[in-house]
Amino acid sequence: MFVDSHCHLSFPELAERIGDIRADMAAASVDRALCICTTLEEFDTVQGLATRFDNFWCSAGVHPDNEGVQEPRVEDLVALAARPRVVAIGETGLDYYRLNGRSIDDMAWQRERFRIHIRAARATGLPLVVHTRSASADTVRLLQEEGAEAVGGVFHCFTETMQVAREALDLGFHISFSGILTFKTAIDLQEVARFVPLDRCLIETDSPYLAPVPFRGKTNTPALVPYVARKLAELKAIDVESVAEATTANFERLFKTSLRT
Ligand SMILES: [Zn+2]
Ligand SMILES: [Zn+2]
Repeated sequence: MFVDSHCHLSFPELAERIGDIRADMAAASVDRALCICTTLEEFDTVQGLATRFDNFWCSAGVHPDNEGVQEPRVEDLVALAARPRVVAIGETGLDYYRLNGRSIDDMAWQRERFRIHIRAARATGLPLVVHTRSASADTVRLLQEEGAEAVGGVFHCFTETMQVAREALDLGFHISFSGILTFKTAIDLQEVARFVPLDRCLIETDSPYLAPVPFRGKTNTPALVPYVARKLAELKAIDVESVAEATTANFERLFKTSLRT
C-alpha cells in the first residue's frame, strides 16, 4: 500500500472527478492521501474532503505563492488545526522563483507569513509541510530561528541540493520526492534520493502537477504515486514493497494520522 503525502484534490480539475480519482487510487494500491491547503479561503473545501473520506487527511496553511488572499495570524492557524482530520501546518515556506521584478528584500511579507506558520506549528505540535523554491538558505534559516526542530515536518517536492537535504535532515525533517524524481534530467535529485535515509523519505504526487514519467505533462492524481516509489526503489536498489512499507510508516509516524480521526 502506498501513501500520497501531498496532493491538491480541491483544485477544480480534480475536485470534479473525485469518484474516479478514488477508484483509480484503490486500483493502484494507494490507500491514503494528505490533502494540502493553500489558502484560508480554500480550507473548508480541503477539510471537507478529509471528513468525507476516511483515508484522506488535510493540512491548514497559506502557500507562499498566494497573494491577494487572507493573511493568516497564528491564532487563525491554531483554530483551524483543532478541526477534525487536520494533521499538518502548511503548505508554507518561501518561493523566490517568481519575484516579478521585486527584490528578495521585498519578499519580507513571505518570510513573515512563514514565521507565523512555524509559530502555529509549535503552538499546536503539528508538523510543517514546507515548500521551498529558489530560497533554500532563508528557508533553513527561518526554520532554525523559529525552532521548527521541535515539531519537524517535511520538505515537500524536494528539488534542492545534497547540502540542503543534509540541513533538512539535521533539523529532523523528512524529505518528500515527487514525480520529478522520474524525469531523465533529474540526475542531481536522484543522487539526493540515494543519500536520504529510507526512514526519512516520503513520496507524493503534488497532484494535479508534476505527473511522473510516462505521464509527464498530463494531469497528475494520487494513483500515480507508485511510479515515484518505483523510481526511489530503483535508485536505492531495494524492492518497491520496502519503499511502500517505509514511506507509509514514515507518514504515519510524522502525521500520526491514526490518532487524528
Ligand atoms: Zn509546494
Ligand atoms: Zn503543493
